[in-house]
Amino acid sequence: MDFCPKCGAILVPKRKNYGCPRCNYTAKDKIKVETKEVMGQQEFVGVVNEKEGEVSPIVDFKCPKCKNEKAYFWSRQMRSSDEAESKFYKCLKCKKVTRVDR
Ligand SMILES: [Zn+2]
Ligand SMILES: [Zn+2]
Repeated sequence: MDFCPKCGAILVPKRKNYGCPRCNYTAKDKIKVETKEVMGQQEFVGVVNEKEGEVSPIVDFKCPKCKNEKAYFWSRQMRSSDEAESKFYKCLKCKKVTRVDR
């Protein structure tokens, strides 16, 4: 965990790297973890929100694989078909992506 050198607040992930939620300080370090995982999961997630520069919120979701109860969440409208919106949950622990269709 990193702290803002200007005001001491805990840095949060922003578009491309970590930044301070209080002042406008931005760290030089990129968010490495996200980028790396996204590569391996591409067939699953299709368009990854990383490209849009968004950081997924963390929600309560029980992972079917490791039973961890926290996951990143995002949703996406499937363009190529008449499917309804799909929801994606990515386990914080084992990184498994679960897709839930409505
Ligand atoms: Zn700050
Ligand atoms: Zn898991």
